[in-house]
Amino acid sequence: MHISRSVGDLRKHVAALKQQGKKIGLVPTMGALHEGHLSLIRLARKHSDAVVVTAFVNPTQFGPEEDFDRYPRSQSHDMHACETEGVEIFFMPPVEEMYPSTSHIGFTINTLDEHLCGATRPHHFPGVIQVVNKLFNMVQPDVAVFGQKDIQQYKILERMRDEFAHPVELIRAPIVRDSDGLALSSRNAYLTPEQRSKAPMLYQALHYVGMRIQKGDTHLINLIEDRKKTLTENGFQVDYLQCVDEEELQPVSEPEPGQNYIVAGAVYLGATRLIDNIIVEASDRVK
Ligand code: AMP
Repeated sequence: MHISRSVGDLRKHVAALKQQGKKIGLVPTMGALHEGHLSLIRLARKHSDAVVVTAFVNPTQFGPEEDFDRYPRSQSHDMHACETEGVEIFFMPPVEEMYPSTSHIGFTINTLDEHLCGATRPHHFPGVIQVVNKLFNMVQPDVAVFGQKDIQQYKILERMRDEFAHPVELIRAPIVRDSDGLALSSRNAYLTPEQRSKAPMLYQALHYVGMRIQKGDTHLINLIEDRKKTLTENGFQVDYLQCVDEEELQPVSEPEPGQNYIVAGAVYLGATRLIDNIIVEASDRVK
């Protein structure tokens, strides 16, 4: 595995792989790799001949009060994990390499970041667009793999790919969970044992709402409010718990049969923010 810390070196090594006729798969991450990330790497491997993993905690997608400084960093663990997975290039640039000068160009997102995480994290998705756009230009991959875990990110990146005409196929990887349902996340490391034992309640709430939608329930407002109340009573601070349509990510209170919906939530347990979602198809009868 080649370890690259500069854009020039990255480009050189990617070019050499392309010259050998290899199809390049890109897996962007912020490091602190867990089984969820590894599942993305394995999926990239299936769809390409050489995998490039990037580990970069991107400062521009964190708000001023957020956890950029204390975000978990574990470079030697990450390198070892990628090596074991047979990754060809591991790119871990310092911040100055990704942002050598003050940026004069910003990104705005219309409607897709109005709800869910975008509503309370206005800096987040413009920062994601900025860094993924750079990574796409640096690597020019044939395919790039992102997780359903960050479903709003995935939807926005699909739009970015189309609107900026990036010639890359995006692949969406399913969410990897612990045995009790909690979605794996680098931020789970922040949880105290007591918070960790409560954390699966987020997935349980989403699962319950999703199950009602699948059974044809069209009155989601009270259903969702009840779940929020239960979470709050158990020490969660709920940022949002919402059902949105799969295309435009707009809130829906009366799902239509045959349509797909995303039931998504973000909560705080202490200072730790957890997100999760499920995608369900609404049915036409109440069972
Ligand atoms: P992050 O390092 O948190 O920015 O995540 C990097 C990529 O891994 C993103 O595309 C995430 O959606 C994906 N990811 C994070 N957690 C999981 C998980 N539990 N299962 C599958 N993919 C995940």
